Amino acid sequence: MFNNLSDKLDKALHVLKGHGSITEVNVAETLKEVRRALLDADVNFKIAKEFTNKVKEKALGQNVLTTLQPGQLMVKIVKDELTELMGGDVEGINLSGNPSIVLMSGLQGSGKTTFSGKLANYLKNKKTKKPLLVACDVYRPAAIDQLHVVGDQINVEVFSDKGNNDPVAIAQAGVAHAKANGFNVVIIDTAGRLAVDEAMMTEISNIHKAIEPQETLFVVDSMTGQDAVNTAKAFNDILNFDGVILTKLDGDTRGGAAISIKSVVNKPIKFIGTGEKMEAIDVFYPSRMADRILGMGDVVSLVERAQEQFDEEEARKLQKKIAKNQFGFDDFLKQIQQIKKMGNMKDLIGMIPGAGKMMKDIDIDDDAFKGIEAIIHSMTPAERSNPSIINSSRKKRIGKGSGTSVQEVNQLLKQFTQMSKMMKMMQGGGGKRMMQAMKN
Ligand code: GDP
Repeated sequence: MFNNLSDKLDKALHVLKGHGSITEVNVAETLKEVRRALLDADVNFKIAKEFTNKVKEKALGQNVLTTLQPGQLMVKIVKDELTELMGGDVEGINLSGNPSIVLMSGLQGSGKTTFSGKLANYLKNKKTKKPLLVACDVYRPAAIDQLHVVGDQINVEVFSDKGNNDPVAIAQAGVAHAKANGFNVVIIDTAGRLAVDEAMMTEISNIHKAIEPQETLFVVDSMTGQDAVNTAKAFNDILNFDGVILTKLDGDTRGGAAISIKSVVNKPIKFIGTGEKMEAIDVFYPSRMADRILGMGDVVSLVERAQEQFDEEEARKLQKKIAKNQFGFDDFLKQIQQIKKMGNMKDLIGMIPGAGKMMKDIDIDDDAFKGIEAIIHSMTPAERSNPSIINSSRKKRIGKGSGTSVQEVNQLLKQFTQMSKMMKMMQGGGGKRMMQAMKN
């Protein structure tokens, strides 16, 4: 995420951090570099200029030049300003109605349908919410089907009316259906166009007036940079929306949209989309995002993601299995699947302070587990629960079945044995024994 920008800001600030004496000249030089980095990231010129002016003002106000660690203080000022620019405090969505109506708006391809599904899934997992998805794109039958596919995937009901070509009527019928059937959140997916046009604006505005949503969200593809900001402005003029959803932040986004949008429309970014999967949704925390942009990682989000996937009941079962030496490849597979649900690998590593920078040029395949999974899938149930029966002819068969080699099968078996040993040691609380096992 934002690798290029992070890199350039790091270089700009590095000069200051490393300097024995900091002068007004090199502060000015640094700020010029910071501004250039922001412009390269497709941040609006005016915003970039205001940003560096504010940083300069603060730096002078806080007498940066005479403090003990001027470089650190400069980084802090830049971080605070960046946080402020992206919205300051985190803002949730308003779900006070019964049902609460959430209206999605945005261009075609921005990720509305995908995000509608992600939001429904996110709310469903909160247990107190029972969401209904409503398909209001009457122009593309495929769009309705797509929402149904998403709904099936996350087990959320989808309301649609394929023959009907009046999106306002469908939205109203969807809300009525929710009321009659005990849904407490209605998420309305609407039709977008490739560019802002009058017919689309009239339509979304009519839906908005008819259903009076508690929350109108504008979904925008962060890869579109300055265009994203212009589109946001056009939609906001008509809808006066409540918040922005920035999608596709997992891609090679330069960051301009994330940094500029708040100050142009004065509406907060509420969620971000970080992948195509239903789990790839995050609440937008300006301060955490600033940390990430400045290469400071985001451990808090990393821990939260791990917690989301953590199932206490499962963990207890697993503990028992480990204690009884019954931890098998099926359990291992489950663990891998949980890690995969946390997000894409590069994104996760980027959350570890310092690691993102170190690993930025290393291509981390999201299918890093593919080989391992294929090997495990090629094992029989008996082999999975009792790997010790895997002799050389079985290894050959597994290698062949999984499209890997006997060496790779051997390697996995060895790693698995070591891991099982280690887990048992850790459970027994024997730190010393664990150290011993590591030496062996
Ligand atoms: P809509 O036309 O606004 O409903 O957009 P869709 O939901 O159909 O999304 C358009 C494309 O973008 C699809 O291929 C999605 O899988 C993809 N997409 C949506 N959100 C994200 C995201 O956060 N990251 C990535 N990488 N792809 C996304």
